[in-house]
Amino acid sequence: MIPAIAVLKAVAEKKYAGELSFSFEPDPALLDIPYVTFGSPVRAELAYEIFEDNSVEVRGTLTFTLRGLCSRCLAEAEREIRSEAEGVFVAGKPEDDEYVYRGGTVELSEFLRDSVMFALPQRLLCGTCEEE
Ligand SMILES: [Zn+2]
Repeated sequence: MIPAIAVLKAVAEKKYAGELSFSFEPDPALLDIPYVTFGSPVRAELAYEIFEDNSVEVRGTLTFTLRGLCSRCLAEAEREIRSEAEGVFVAGKPEDDEYVYRGGTVELSEFLRDSVMFALPQRLLCGTCEEE
């Protein structure tokens, strides 16, 4: 379950920062490595900060597992991926790389999708091939 950030409510309560910790199922369509699938949900540990102009900065780490066959030797392989994620959400007109939010609430789905895509390696290697 992906939580949302109720920005206007948080501002009204003067809670300008917070942390979010949750897991979600990544879209299998994001993964384009032959014989490899997500081996776990994505674990997200995020912190957010709300600024005076109501823009919201979200940053943290995403952790998940890839499982399948080594892209080089086809042996069974599994690897934990850990990646930094960072995004800025604005209520008005976004600049490059910014996300828009509406109705006073930041929805994280698109940001998480982009961040998972960014975190994905080009291939999965088994322990033996990785050492070579
Ligand atoms: Zn291998």
